[in-house]
Amino acid sequence: MIESNVENLLKEIPKENPFGEKVTLVAAVKLQNAEDINRAVAAGITDIGDNHVQELRDKYELINGNPRRHFIGHLQTNKIKYLLGKVDLYHSVDRINLAEELSKKSAGAGIVSDILIQINIGNEETKGGFALEDCGEIYKTIKRLPALRIKGLMAMLPIDNDETRLKTLAKSMRGQFDRLRAIDKDIEYLSMGMSGDWRICLEQGANIIRLGTAIFGARNYNKN
Ligand SMILES: *Cc1c(COP(=O)(O)O)cnc(C)c1O
Repeated sequence: MIESNVENLLKEIPKENPFGEKVTLVAAVKLQNAEDINRAVAAGITDIGDNHVQELRDKYELINGNPRRHFIGHLQTNKIKYLLGKVDLYHSVDRINLAEELSKKSAGAGIVSDILIQINIGNEETKGGFALEDCGEIYKTIKRLPALRIKGLMAMLPIDNDETRLKTLAKSMRGQFDRLRAIDKDIEYLSMGMSGDWRICLEQGANIIRLGTAIFGARNYNKN
């Protein structure tokens, strides 16, 4: 099941988005055990994304094949120390004080951390991230931090059956991404698209999608 899901997705997901950029599939592995994650990696998954620090730590040594590591969940500043040097790209920088702490801790470790700025594209109370209209200012503020490298933007579209609205939101993310890319050569990634909406997101110019359910099936929040 996991193997065939991965195989079918790798066939279906285009290698490039309509802008000619390489598309990266990140497996969202929250609540999945190491064995299932290893099955996905063996089937061709090259990138995995964790939401929870504790889960990442528990499973870190158990994952084979050395996939690239993404952190995609809400991050508390007091947990940063457990991730330093383990995460290739932080998608979910959603507060200035998180950016400041991540820069400080990265500097202390002698590294520069690659990050995405999370945008709350649907202005949802339940989601983290900055308002799209504040993105320019936020970018300038974070850009001053010495031990972070801003690589792009991340967003989660709202749950909505209105495809036209989702397209409009995804398109406005791409617009902001293009404005930053025009002034900063480090800007490279637009991380947007989950199991329910990745086709729309790719069409509108995402180049990283994050899929959980489409790979592993429905998550069981009661196991462990
Ligand atoms: C869980 C999660 C995903 C994957 O969601 P699915 O709908 O299961 O594909 C993607 N991004 C983030 C930030 C998530 O927390």
